[in-house]
Amino acid sequence: MSSGPLRSLEPRVDGLGLSATLEINERSNALMRRGETVYKLGLGQSPFPVPDSVVEALRRNAGQKDYLPVRGLPALREAVAAHQRRVCGLDCSADDVLIGPGSKELLFLLQVVYDAQLVLPNPSWVSYEPQARIAGRDVLWVNADRGDRWRMQPDALASAVASEPGRPRVLLLNYPSNPTGATYSREHLKAIARVAQEHNMLVLSDEIYGELHHEGDHVSIASHYPEGTIVSGGLSKWCGAGGWRLGTFILPGELSWLGDAMACAASETFTSTSAPIQHAAIEAFKGNDEIERYLHLSRGIVRDLGRWIAGELRSAGAAVDDPEGGFYLFPDLEPLGEALTERGIHTSADLTRRCLDETGVAFLPGSCFGRPAAERTARIAYVNFDGEQALAEASERGDEDAGGLAELPACASTREAVTRLADWLRG
Ligand code: PLP
Repeated sequence: MSSGPLRSLEPRVDGLGLSATLEINERSNALMRRGETVYKLGLGQSPFPVPDSVVEALRRNAGQKDYLPVRGLPALREAVAAHQRRVCGLDCSADDVLIGPGSKELLFLLQVVYDAQLVLPNPSWVSYEPQARIAGRDVLWVNADRGDRWRMQPDALASAVASEPGRPRVLLLNYPSNPTGATYSREHLKAIARVAQEHNMLVLSDEIYGELHHEGDHVSIASHYPEGTIVSGGLSKWCGAGGWRLGTFILPGELSWLGDAMACAASETFTSTSAPIQHAAIEAFKGNDEIERYLHLSRGIVRDLGRWIAGELRSAGAAVDDPEGGFYLFPDLEPLGEALTERGIHTSADLTRRCLDETGVAFLPGSCFGRPAAERTARIAYVNFDGEQALAEASERGDEDAGGLAELPACASTREAVTRLADWLRG
């Protein structure tokens, strides 16, 4: 006899997916179907192409058809470790590396195998909290303030974790940050590491935008807390290869038991990451002059464009800092609060919905990133330009360190979107 409808089992994804992201996407599509121009500043995808030498490596390896070892191709694990030693000076070896089909999958798998509370700075990337909920984990948010450029302060972390001192916890720290574009100084990372160490917290350091630090000066918190930090990365952002789905974890020897648990779960789920992609990724992580040049130009473009956008938004009354890495900005429109309220805009979701309807500019409300619904903040992913063309134009100019790359003809669609947005904010 039936004991009731299956629905009453309350699947862990209940309520997830009905997000503002989805709503903005649906509205954008509806506008485009009506023939209107939509400026897509919502999805955080790299605008740049995969470097030619890496595409060529993929071509050469299209015939690779066998399943690979669950932790990844040994030569790729070696290349990832060497890259990490070169870029961050971390003492690691191929044995410490885990390869997965995107870092997102690895972040999730860690939460599945490690029963701990997830500690998240607020704001944080959209997927961390839903992953925790699907894995059945609690989330503890630690507030960050705009006045601190949205960087989590060590004392805020210490007070948030002061209760239940023995509880297993994972601090998920992402820098340069999606959604804020800010990063942490060496001193700040050291202070956070000290709190994590004192509270026996594992640090999951999401450094997927590390190579896109605008000055090429990324530091890892792992250098201050090597025994307790896992570094997450991959090809998606700095190599323009989000759709290739290749992510990396670097775990210290002290956490090899967690690597073993993840490998066990991986062997029962995704088995191994795509073989042609892993072979091609060796070229990307080994690096070469073409990739260095590509990175230098990419950083210059997102740095100059981000600074130009922040300036435009500030002149329209928003509170927003120049970005330091990646391709995001997190403006706070509360300084325009009264005028927005008069226009019937009370929440961050009102803000993005109305702006899309009235200007065609699509971006995401701050509430997607953990901010209170009534705080009128938003995330702008300034990536709706032709990255290949922008690289070619920047390379032709040849003086990319002189600034001014925001004026490249290839960035016109982004400038247009931001001008529309700024005009709309001015009312
Ligand atoms: N972490 C952050 C902060 C991101 O923005 C993203 C992608 O947008 C990811 C992780 C996941 O990257 P991937 O799964 O492509 O490696």
